[in-house]
Amino acid sequence: MIKFNQVSRSFIGDEVETVAIDEMNLTINEGEFLSILGPSGCGKSTLLNVLGMLDSIDTGEFSFLENPVDKYSEQQRARLRKQHIGFIFQNFNLIDELTVEQNIELPLYYHKVAKTERKRLVDAVLKRVDISHRRKHLPAKLSGGQQQRVAIARAIVTNPDLILADEPTGNLDSKNSTQVMALLQQLNQEGATIVMVTHAPEHIIYGTRVIELLDGKVITDHLVKEKPNSQIEKEAVGVYSKEIDSTADQGVEVTCG
Ligand code: ADP
Ligand code: MG
Repeated sequence: MIKFNQVSRSFIGDEVETVAIDEMNLTINEGEFLSILGPSGCGKSTLLNVLGMLDSIDTGEFSFLENPVDKYSEQQRARLRKQHIGFIFQNFNLIDELTVEQNIELPLYYHKVAKTERKRLVDAVLKRVDISHRRKHLPAKLSGGQQQRVAIARAIVTNPDLILADEPTGNLDSKNSTQVMALLQQLNQEGATIVMVTHAPEHIIYGTRVIELLDGKVITDHLVKEKPNSQIEKEAVGVYSKEIDSTADQGVEVTCG
């Protein structure tokens, strides 16, 4: 689905140049749920913004669903993004003045979906994230966990092929985090490809693969072994290093960044 060949992205400041993505090679296949770990400033958000075509690259090749994105104009990238990608952010990014259902309906306006179809899709997705009873509320009236479920509903209402999530549980307590992670895992099992930046190494077991970044480079790359759902809840804390299957970098331990 996604292929990076020697991709770089730098930011030029007053005096120094920061290399946020450094000649990165990366392939992400359809159906994967990829977790990205790494210390603050290592380029995680930049990578997600590039994947979501909110940001462009300086050098290298980037293809998405066979499209040569590095050669595309901003307009062409925006079209691809709209058709294929849903975003979830740490701080939810809901519009304060709109109700829950209006927030979720918004992307459907941009897709020019007819009114009755909009209502059908919003109803279905409200049920899906179990927030129908709050549909007329403003975001400020909801808990953090509920707001993130609304944000997920907004991201998935257009049925995207790729969901990008930047620390989706960063502002949530452990109970709400578990709910959000279980929901993401379900979406992945139903066919969505997911790329998630996370500060929480215990959450990588919901995914299928984990990479670790350092200074804009991929330093480890592992598959996560499949586990039954019931076991995941029990084993969710601290033991993830036992759950991974060494692939690319044999013998390299994943460390918590
Ligand atoms: P992470 O999400 O892993 O914390 P980022 O991708 O946000 O890291 O940032 C990687 C590096 O690029 C950091 O050194 C950051 O300061 C720099 N950076 C990110 N975005 C910008 C920007 N818009 N302008 C200047 N520097 C930036
Ligand atoms: Mg970040």
